[in-house]
Amino acid sequence: MDWRIEVREGRESLVANTDQTPDAWLTPQRILVVLAHPDDPEFFCGGTINRWAIAGHQIVYCLLTCGDKGTKERHLESHELCLIRQKEQRAAAKLLGVDEIYFLNYEDGYLIPSLELRKDITRIIRQVRPDIVVTCDPTTLYTQDARLNHPDHRAAGQAVLDAVFPAARDHLYFIELWRDEKLEPHIVREVWVCGTLEPDVVLDVTDTWNAKLMALYEHKSQIADPEKLKERMLSRRTVDSTPEKPQYVEKFRRLVLG
Ligand SMILES: [Zn+2]
Repeated sequence: MDWRIEVREGRESLVANTDQTPDAWLTPQRILVVLAHPDDPEFFCGGTINRWAIAGHQIVYCLLTCGDKGTKERHLESHELCLIRQKEQRAAAKLLGVDEIYFLNYEDGYLIPSLELRKDITRIIRQVRPDIVVTCDPTTLYTQDARLNHPDHRAAGQAVLDAVFPAARDHLYFIELWRDEKLEPHIVREVWVCGTLEPDVVLDVTDTWNAKLMALYEHKSQIADPEKLKERMLSRRTVDSTPEKPQYVEKFRRLVLG
């Protein structure tokens, strides 16, 4: 069952979407997922990505960095790690049914929402021309389970939202994209923000939770203990789950723009 969060008399309540889910689009959608690191799409919304791919939507990834710093292996240099992470990301994406991947190869850990980054994302949006953009919430400083959010995640979310509106929409922003690269402006219809403390859409991803886990396993260089990862992911079942019937959800803030 899918749910949505409604605010009634100042209080949030979970309301079952009995009629139509918010992703019950009538035609195949082109969906662009823009996040900071290899493994972010799978961790943040891998169940949803697989659900959308199965439903016939076209999914494109854009990873802003290639995760070239997160290792304890002393013999590895950044450029080697970058290649490993890209290969793992391709395998994970393939498993979830993703059609295409762009890597912008910004340096891991140093991402800032610069005009250069905004322009590069604007270019991708105008090339891919997505109906839906998925990114993460730039305002999340710490997560619900009291972890610090990675600064690259905040930077990525900020740069993506700023690229969607207004940069991708109007030709005079980064005019060289239109004038020299012949990229027409583009209006994104919906933005789905994951990693947010203020979700208003809760999607049931029980059926695709295993695919999410399998895709996460593809990020071998990032997993110290596969059993621990499995345990952690399986423990994320909803509170109303039973041992016989575990249920899993992914949450988003959905912005309808156009
Ligand atoms: Zn990350």
